[in-house]
Amino acid sequence: CGIVGYVGNAGRAADHGALDVILEGLRRLEYRGYDSAGLAVVTDAGIDSRKKAGKLANLVQSLEEEPLPAALTGIGHTRWATHGGPTDANAHPHLADNGNLAMIHNGIIENFAELKAKLRAEGVEFISDTDTEVAAALLGSVYRGAGEGNLTRSMELTARQLEGAFTLLAVHAEHPGVVVAARRNSPLVLGLGDGENFLGSDVSGFIDFTRRAVELGQDQIVTITPESHSITDFEGNPAEGKEFHVDWDA
Ligand code: GLU
Repeated sequence: CGIVGYVGNAGRAADHGALDVILEGLRRLEYRGYDSAGLAVVTDAGIDSRKKAGKLANLVQSLEEEPLPAALTGIGHTRWATHGGPTDANAHPHLADNGNLAMIHNGIIENFAELKAKLRAEGVEFISDTDTEVAAALLGSVYRGAGEGNLTRSMELTARQLEGAFTLLAVHAEHPGVVVAARRNSPLVLGLGDGENFLGSDVSGFIDFTRRAVELGQDQIVTITPESHSITDFEGNPAEGKEFHVDWDA
């Protein structure tokens, strides 16, 4: 229901890390309503994630008791359950590719049941009841196959196979410093910073950090690094969003 993505360079780490940005963004997005919250960070050691049913305060408390490593890349989510009850296991992020990939999702994947059956036949095991975990597993499978380890290309190939409404964000252990996102029938906004970039389900997700925003169009993929962003359609052709300045007071 609420989505935040962040990548920053080492110079930004003095101001804030991925965890600060994500938790602040999720707090701003609480107004949307949600039943669970979670996040994943990427460091050179791989992906670490944490997720909790209930209020954001539950996630924050868990992080205080058992901190995640400082990171410059991460994704965060507040969930409004549509497929599977509001449990820790069904909360996002969902992991795939042996824990090397983490995904968050707003919306509904209409054809998740047939994709799930296909992936099961390939030997994939599922631990949640969500449609999202199916999209994560599909991305993981494509990444090891036709996507050839290219995260953006893999997201394009995956998005083409998904029906319904989705904003998807993914990170991969082999690409620290990258967040890739796809959107269809569900909103996604890019926030442009200096040595850092942001993604949000709306500008509230990053309003504390930048006012330069780009509204993504229908069926677009965006890949962010601390110094760059690139937008394509689901076929990999270059595309453009609509840049605007956020001038309301937070
Ligand atoms: N359909 C997904 C789920 O139930 C995402 C729900 C949402 O948009 O938060 O987990």
